[in-house]
Amino acid sequence: MALITISGYPSSGKSQRAAQIKRHFEARLADPFYTGPSLSVVVLDDDTLNIDRSSYNDSRSEKPARGTLFTAVQRNLAQNKIVIVDSLNYIKGFRYQMYCAAREIKVRVCTVYVLATPDLCKQWNSERTDGKAYAPETLANLLQRYEEPSSMVRWDSPLFTVSWSDEDVPADDIWRAITEGVVKPPNTGT
Ligand code: ADP
Repeated sequence: MALITISGYPSSGKSQRAAQIKRHFEARLADPFYTGPSLSVVVLDDDTLNIDRSSYNDSRSEKPARGTLFTAVQRNLAQNKIVIVDSLNYIKGFRYQMYCAAREIKVRVCTVYVLATPDLCKQWNSERTDGKAYAPETLANLLQRYEEPSSMVRWDSPLFTVSWSDEDVPADDIWRAITEGVVKPPNTGT
């Protein structure tokens, strides 16, 4: 039914944002006044797919990791599912590939860009106690190679940017984008 691609620097808070979106959507779907189709919300991430953070240490090990993720995306995309892809998704071409897979079966797409400064990511990464920290050189390398999403290209669009200081995700806007194709114009402050 929809593909939500999360993208952001390593340790920028992507998993937290994916979990927030999932919580909002599941609450909405469980609401007794909800009258839409029955949908499930699935998060695909490196952990559930057994992709170790060290896979990102070099491009040779990263390629099969991306292959695993892409296969899982293809398998999960369905009319009765909202698939949230919680991974770095930092390569433009890879996001384009997922977009094409989604459009092929006519599910709506959107991208959520989780924004945190490189210094914060380094700090949060070094403070991680969940065993999911990236090696410092890998983190530095990924920060350098990161290809920022852009609302100007169709495969990243509609694009929602969530900053590290935001309490919550714009769940209602994301919901409207994937269910109705409605996107609120950016707030220009006028
Ligand atoms: P990612 O999925 O991008 O690797 P996570 O969501 O797993 O990032 O978060 C990485 C670490 O950073 C976690 O230890 C988390 O507690 C911390 N973190 C994430 N977002 C924030 C935030 N907005 N403020 C403070 N700490 C954060």
